[in-house]
Parts: sequence; structure tokens; C-alpha cells
Amino acid sequence: MIAERIQQLKNELPENVQLIAVSKTKPNADIQVAYDAGQRVFGENKVQELADKYKALPKDIEWHLIGHLQTNKVKYIAPFVHLIHAVDSLKLLQEINKQALKNDRVINCLLQFFIASEDTKFGFSIEEAQDMLSSPAFFELKNIKIVGVMGMASFVDDEGQVEKEFKNLHSYFQLLKSSVFESNADFKEISMGMSGDYKIAIAQGSTMVRLGSTIFGNR
Ligand SMILES: *Cc1c(COP(=O)(O)O)cnc(C)c1O
Repeated sequence: MIAERIQQLKNELPENVQLIAVSKTKPNADIQVAYDAGQRVFGENKVQELADKYKALPKDIEWHLIGHLQTNKVKYIAPFVHLIHAVDSLKLLQEINKQALKNDRVINCLLQFFIASEDTKFGFSIEEAQDMLSSPAFFELKNIKIVGVMGMASFVDDEGQVEKEFKNLHSYFQLLKSSVFESNADFKEISMGMSGDYKIAIAQGSTMVRLGSTIFGNR
């Protein structure tokens, strides 16, 4: 079942859209099945679980942290994490930079934007992000690379609302792409879309979909 879903998704997703298989709460055996079906990119939302799975599973897996990250936990994933999706403050970015430096790495990050109507979700507003990106403190950070943006739409049945939220994220991406990141080819990713809304996200320009339950079943 997991292998079939991976295959179906690989056929279904446009070539420019990367599949992040969200394996949170799922056992290593399930991840191995997806791996054997050719999947190499996995997402987790908890630091401890991510670190444990990294240790136990094949080393050519590209691990993404997709959940909220606390500054005091950055050190546990800094040696190996490929992409941190949910960066939502300068303080966090500074800590990622510090730990990346310690590990002699440059860590890829996405800026998380607040796009949903629910106030339970983390993220920058566009004004906050612009302020941070133009601050002297940001320019000092040499061991992080901002490669794009990330956002989560509201959990609602109203597809029009979800579409509008993804449209907003795309417009924030465009705004930054045409200003702060104008001469930066690495800034190219829009991480949006989960099992319930990834088709809408792709129509609105997503380049990374984070899919859990549609691959691994309900949690
Ligand atoms: C759990 C999670 C997902 C995947 O959710 P599904 O609905 O199972 O596809 C995507 N993004 C984030 C940030 C998550 O925490």
C-alpha cells in the first residue's frame, strides 16, 4: 500500500514539485518500505523522533524538519538535517547559524509565513520578514541559506479560502524573490500543501508538498 501510494504520487505530481513523505509517528519499517519504493526525502515534525530515525535508517535519506523548532533543540539536528521548513524568528535563525557553524555546514531554511485564519499557527507576516531580511543581524548569518517559503492553510472545507491563503503565500514569495532575493538563485521553493489540500497548493505554485496520511495512512 505505501509503495503503491509512492508510485502513484510520483506519477501524479508535476516534475517541479518535490514529494516530502511525512513519516511522523510512523515506525521505521514503514519508512523503509517507502525507501525501497524509491522515496529518499522524508519529513518529521519532532526533533527527538527525527534524530532517532536518522540514526536507524539509511544514510542517503534527506531529512526535513517540518514542524515548529525550539532554539534549544537545534543542536540535535544540525549535524545532518537537509532542510528546516518552519523558521519563524531571527532568534531561531541565529541559533541555526551557530549550530551549522559548529558542524562546518550551511543549513537550508524556509521562512514560515502565517497565512491561515486560525491563530494557532506560527509564522512571519510579510512585514516582519522584510524587516528581518533587511536587518544587519541577518546579514551576519553566513551558515544558513534561505531557499524559500513555507506555509500551512487553514483546516477548513472551504476550498476557496484555502486557495486564497496559498495565493497569499505565493505572492509573498514573489515579493521577496523580486526584492531581497533578486540575485539569489537558491531562493526558489514554496513548501505548501498537505494530504487534504495539496492539489490546490500545486495549482497555486507549490514546489514542495508535505504528504503524510495519504502515503502512510491515518495517524
Ligand atoms: C503532519 C504534517 C504534514 C502532513 O500532514 P498530512 O495531512 O498527514 O499529509 C505536513 N506539514 C506539517 C507541518 C505537518 O506537521
